[in-house]
Amino acid sequence: MIFPNDRPVLLTGGAVVTMDPAVPDLDAGDVLIAGSRIVAVGPDLRADPEHAVTAGAAHVLDTRGKIVSPGFVDSHRHAWQAQLRRSIPDVSDLGAYVTSTLAGIAPAYTPHDMYVGTRLAALTALDAGITTMLDFSHNSRTAAHSDAAVHALIDAGIRGVHASMGPHFGEWDRQWPGDLERLVSTFHGGGDGLITVRLAALSTGEIGGPALAYGPGLAGVARDLDIRASIDAVFGVSSSEAILRWRREGILDSRLTLIHATGLTREAWQAMGDAGVTVSLAPTSDAQIGLETAVPAVDEALAAGIRPSLSIDVEVALASDMVTQMRALHTIQRMRAVNAAYGTDAPVHRITTRDVLDFATVQGARANGLGEVTGSLTPGKQADLLVVRAEDVNNMPLNDAVGTLVLGADARNIETVLVAGKPRKWAGELVGVDLDALRAEVTASRDDILRRR
Ligand SMILES: [Zn+2]
Repeated sequence: MIFPNDRPVLLTGGAVVTMDPAVPDLDAGDVLIAGSRIVAVGPDLRADPEHAVTAGAAHVLDTRGKIVSPGFVDSHRHAWQAQLRRSIPDVSDLGAYVTSTLAGIAPAYTPHDMYVGTRLAALTALDAGITTMLDFSHNSRTAAHSDAAVHALIDAGIRGVHASMGPHFGEWDRQWPGDLERLVSTFHGGGDGLITVRLAALSTGEIGGPALAYGPGLAGVARDLDIRASIDAVFGVSSSEAILRWRREGILDSRLTLIHATGLTREAWQAMGDAGVTVSLAPTSDAQIGLETAVPAVDEALAAGIRPSLSIDVEVALASDMVTQMRALHTIQRMRAVNAAYGTDAPVHRITTRDVLDFATVQGARANGLGEVTGSLTPGKQADLLVVRAEDVNNMPLNDAVGTLVLGADARNIETVLVAGKPRKWAGELVGVDLDALRAEVTASRDDILRRR
């Protein structure tokens, strides 16, 4: 039975990983939730004078043998593509993705297809413990396409950031970026406060032409609406030059998230660090599709004083979950660090499992403009959290909670997912989702898109 939502909830006896340096982790402890918020974290809250009354009245959830952690935060994925997931699993390069998916398939999408793909991506994220997802929605062919994408986030119940951009190819209404004003006034703060809206753009005109490239015009749109912006396809010499130009133009600032950031020059990194931008690394996308140097730029980011966030990017060719990103980045960075002993100029400092968990939670929240709202088990923040079984066949016995979360657990172990205190996954199943109906809807949409193409 799902807990009654008119009472506080007390998670008791679990291994608590807070990811807030000011709130100590506990080998066995309690997390108290009231409404949408975390009230307290401590060893035994029913015996704590400050919280005894609330904790005593709470619905109790026994989390012994389990890990309680913040939900993961994805800072960039193109959710509309989900019904085409794994359609190009061995894609050879960026050009092949652009040709097949952005030029070949995107123009065939209706608003309904936008809804189906985005909702599927959001439900998949929730199932795998991603409680906040930035949807870089770059197929906004009409205002109705944008509306459908946002409604999908709302209906899935995820904390969603809708980042709106027009499409790269084909006929469209040219309603973007003008329509952002309506999107912000209609949806920003909507969905019970779970939805935010931002601008999405590309770093240069190389892929989609000058209209989609960030510059003074689009920066002005974001500034006038008081919204943040995410910039995709940031890589190589041309993006490095663009970053230095944005600095001269006064539009490189802490409200920007730069995505990928592979193959950038030292000067560009310096400018990014000075400006306080956030960065979204997409480790599997960078490495597998081969974006510029194909090396996820974690060392470069850290050297510039930027702790990066992590993202999934495109499900047409990549895995959907955050654990894959954490493990890929952890392995790649440590490979670079050890390999440095053999004559490369990479730094020899190795990142830890706690570093990558920080990137996947706290830093994701910061990049998504929600650093005060989610990303850690901090009293006062929203109750976006996971209960992860740590005594299953693949991860028993529990020896190190952070190690288990990063290297020993996956979606099958995620028993409970709360977003703003509401259960979205419960007893290992998504709440309120008819999988047979979902499958029929997804398959029909996929078939319609391919027929229309
Ligand atoms: Zn992308």
